[in-house]
Order: sequence, then C-alpha cells, then structure tokens
Amino acid sequence: GNFVPPIRNNGGSTSNMTSRVIGKNDDSMGDSTRKCLEMLCGPDGELPEKLRNLEPRLIEHVSNEIMDKDPNVRWDDIAGLEHAKKCVTEMVIWPLLRPDIFRGCRSPGRGLLLFGPPGTGKTMIGKAIAGEAKATFFYISASSLTSKWIGEGEKLVRALFGVACCRQPAVIFVDEIDSLLSQEQQTDLKNWMKQHGGDLQNVYIFPFLHQARAWIIRNLLEKDGLFRLTEEETNDVCKLTEGYSGSDMKNLVKDASMGPLREALQQGVGITKLNKEDMRPVMLKDFETALQEVRPSVSSSELGTYEEWNRQFGSLA
Ligand code: ADP
Repeated sequence: GNFVPPIRNNGGSTSNMTSRVIGKNDDSMGDSTRKCLEMLCGPDGELPEKLRNLEPRLIEHVSNEIMDKDPNVRWDDIAGLEHAKKCVTEMVIWPLLRPDIFRGCRSPGRGLLLFGPPGTGKTMIGKAIAGEAKATFFYISASSLTSKWIGEGEKLVRALFGVACCRQPAVIFVDEIDSLLSQEQQTDLKNWMKQHGGDLQNVYIFPFLHQARAWIIRNLLEKDGLFRLTEEETNDVCKLTEGYSGSDMKNLVKDASMGPLREALQQGVGITKLNKEDMRPVMLKDFETALQEVRPSVSSSELGTYEEWNRQFGSLA
C-alpha cells in the first residue's frame, strides 16, 4: 500500500493522457483500451491516482502483454534448486504474505537478483513466487526497453509500476537485466554491485544436478503416459547429461519422445492413419539418438564465470 514507484510522476496532463474519469465519448480511445482502463477503475468508477497522466496505450500494453494474471507455476513444477527455493521463500514470499512480521530487522531487500545460465529456471521461479504469494506477475525483458521501446522505456516503466500498484501484491520480473548495463559496467560487475546492489539479494541458479535431471525426465514423460524407463536406464541418461540445463533437458525429452513416432512411420503407415496405441513407449535408445542432436547450451567456461560471481556475491549454499 505504501509502495512508491521508483520513477517520479512529472505531473501535467496532455491530451493523450488518462484523466480521473474515462470519458465515455472519448473517440481518441479504442474500445479495447477503454475496457482495459475500466477494469483498473476503483469501485467509485474513477481511475486510481497512480494511473492518471499516463498514456492509455501504454497501460493497455502493460495489461495485455506484460501482466500475467495466472502464471500457473508452483514450486513442485521446478526441479532441484532447493537452496534457491528456500532463499526465495524467506526473502520474498513470506514478506509478501506477512508484511506485519517482516519489518525492522526483518525488512526484506528491495529486490532479488537471480543469476545463472539461461534455461535454468529463473523465469519459472519468478512465476512461482507470484503463484505461491497469490500475486500478479509482470514480466518484462530489459532488452525490449532499449530496443522496441526506444525513447519510451521510461514511460513504459512508469506505466508498468502504475498498473502493478493497482494490482498488488505484484511481482515484477525483469529479464536480461544485464542488458541495461553499459559494456564497462558489465566487465566491472563487482563495482556495479557495490554501487547499486547494497539492498539487493543474489541467488545463483545453476544447471541441474543428477537427481533433478532424473526428475524432469520422469515428470515430463509421465505427464503424457510415456514413462517406462527403469531406474538404471534413467541413471544412464543422467550420466550422459552432465551440465544440461532445465531447458536442455526439456528439449532432450521432446526429441526422445519423437523416437517411437519416427519408428512407427518408418513401417509405412501414414501420419493420418497412425494408431496412437500402436506406438511403443520412449526407450533408452531414443535418448541416445536425441543426445546426438541436443547438446548442452552452456559451456563449462561460461559456467565457471557464474560460479566465480556466485563466490563473490551469491548467498551461501
Ligand atoms: P531462465 O529464465 O533461467 O532462462 P526458464 O525458467 O525460462 O529459464 O526455463 C525455460 C524452460 O526450461 C522452462 O519453461 C521449463 O520448461 C524448463 N526448465 C528450466 N529450468 C527448470 C527447472 N528447474 N525445473 C523444471 N523445468 C525447468
């Protein structure tokens, strides 16, 4: 409730800005924009103060493209990352659920930085935070602020925080935040952290451990009723996938699941006539074939850079 957006409102209204009441006969506004603003109005039918003097099209963009009312990810959907889940629960979810307890010494940091190689579950964690804390999820990629919205980034961020204020509790997930840093800052992250990161918590999200890889194989295949591997076979796949991220594993399972289909089609039955029940389950040999196609997306030297950064700035595992 006491949240103050980080960007000052310059005040002063111009013709294409929202005002207190949405004019029914305002022709400059399309139906979808009007509907979207109406949904943000309070019970008194007035637009909340935080949304006044913002451009309606930006509010509409935030509501339709950036806001996700039902992110639909729960902790149980995320394999491994036990340490990250524990940190995030204490740092973010509990304070969101019980702001009365998390004050004074227990005040949470102003932000949480999840860092690590791509495809390891950072976005999933953001969505799960929103899901577990019953908060609205806002996703924005920082790189879109500097490209698509050239010159409009600040206005869009203001609209984003405005809508988020009206949809509290809210989780704003900024992806690829490093794209906002200059080249110099990127090479000197240490100093950047000292200047800006004082009130920021860091959690390292690393590629999967053996058990988490087994979990994802079983979980994804079981969802489709295709899991028939023995424990030993599952272990064999895990041994061959050292360093694979969550999304690498997902791609691997996807590719392996094509094996039975490709084999069935080789018998000469056309795809339209194929009987689903005639397909065999996914086997170890499908994974062996898929491993030729799906390679780990993160190199060990890249991993080394993240690990070094974790040693300096991360929370202790
Ligand atoms: P990041 O934000 O770290 O780049 P994402 O959270 O977008 O990665 O993950 C991409 C996809 O890979 C997810 O949608 C999910 O299918 C899979 N994935 C990644 N990490 C995990 C994980 N820890 N558990 C389950 N699935 C995962």
